[in-house]
Amino acid sequence: MLIVKKFGGTSVANKERIFNVAKRCIEDYKNGNKVVVVLSAMGKQTDVLLDMAKDINPKASRRELDMLLTTGEQTSVALMAMAMDSLGVPAVSMNAFQVAMHTTADYGSARIKRIDTERIKNELDNRRIVVITGFQGINKYDDYTTLGRGGSDTTAVALAAALHADACEIYTDVDGVFTADPRIVPKARKLGEITYDEMLELASLGAGVLHNRSVEMAKKYGVQLVVRSSLNTSEGTVVKEESNMEKMLVSGVAADKNVVQIAVEGLENKPGVAFKLFQHLANHNVNVDMILQSVEHDGTQDISFTVTEDMADTAIETIERHAHTSLKCSNTEVVKDVSKVSIVGAGMMTNAGVAAKMFEALYDAGVNILQISTSEIRVTVLIEEKYTDIAAQAIHDAFSLES
Ligand code: ADP
Ligand code: ASP
Ligand code: MG
Repeated sequence: MLIVKKFGGTSVANKERIFNVAKRCIEDYKNGNKVVVVLSAMGKQTDVLLDMAKDINPKASRRELDMLLTTGEQTSVALMAMAMDSLGVPAVSMNAFQVAMHTTADYGSARIKRIDTERIKNELDNRRIVVITGFQGINKYDDYTTLGRGGSDTTAVALAAALHADACEIYTDVDGVFTADPRIVPKARKLGEITYDEMLELASLGAGVLHNRSVEMAKKYGVQLVVRSSLNTSEGTVVKEESNMEKMLVSGVAADKNVVQIAVEGLENKPGVAFKLFQHLANHNVNVDMILQSVEHDGTQDISFTVTEDMADTAIETIERHAHTSLKCSNTEVVKDVSKVSIVGAGMMTNAGVAAKMFEALYDAGVNILQISTSEIRVTVLIEEKYTDIAAQAIHDAFSLES
């Protein structure tokens, strides 16, 4: 078997954990498997590097940031190969250049385009464990890129797809995918399995246990994932194509505090206004999420939408640049202390009353809803950020998701 095993930051945070991971990989190797290991930077190293950059130059270019951040993963793979070697097992570490892992040009949010697998295959054939940097790639300028925070999961899935691996295991600091973040909702229950679609919604809505693009890629290439703990041997959660299990009405609750609401006020109420507003934003690569258009008052209307925190400044600058020309709005307002709380479940498609039950739980908990959006298998509300944990807990209780 060819097995891809990915370990996150906490799983390689110190010497003891590095040896723990090395031993788990060696076990598979000694059972005759080919083993590819993907690692994140140790502990909170990526945050440490970002703070260092900010201290030197708060407006550092994305290119230099990526140059810096890729050192985190390079440290962990080299140390891991050394640890395996010290345990008597041949291992070789490789970074994105050595692989090579080709991505799009966008620093900070690159997408994997192609992976050269020849060197990896040769090393595996020579009975070495191959330890590869997660999160990073190279672009057409021969520069380092990164895939966005949490992107090592995507590296692992991309490698599993490119190598036609028999298994792709994502090891982390919790026992699997839970009905809610177990750090926020202590009674959350571990799921035995979950479909790609549900996992993709949860990951996109703030369940940081998997990078959303890793789930997208797993679905596209049919890579079955197992999410499990690096610290114990419990079974974990299988992420796969729809199974014949009964569809869960609600399989999980996700919360995302990385949200800013922007209201554009006093817009003319005529055709083309929304088009112009969102066209300007798209031209500046601002990804817009929830959108709300108010009813007309005094001949004008307001449009509110949400963006991630890092996009807020660009969004405001863009709107203000066009405020007196093509947009003709009277005012823009920014609300930073908001968050999104969502429920996800494939069973929602065929069951009425799920949204109502969620809103009732919020009402009982005294949480006001600012905005609502839905899809076939999801309901999302925008609320004041200070109520995030209370809301997640209340909704989790209302749907009896606890173990
Ligand atoms: P790693 O460094 O291993 O990639 P992450 O911090 O990226 O780990 O992801 C694991 C964390 O995801 C957990 O510690 C947990 O707090 C958080 N999390 C959020 N939502 C969920 C969920 N639904 N199930 C499990 N973990 C979740
Ligand atoms: N080290 C990177 C991060 O902290 C990538 C990852 O952990 O997946 O975002
Ligand atoms: Mg992660």
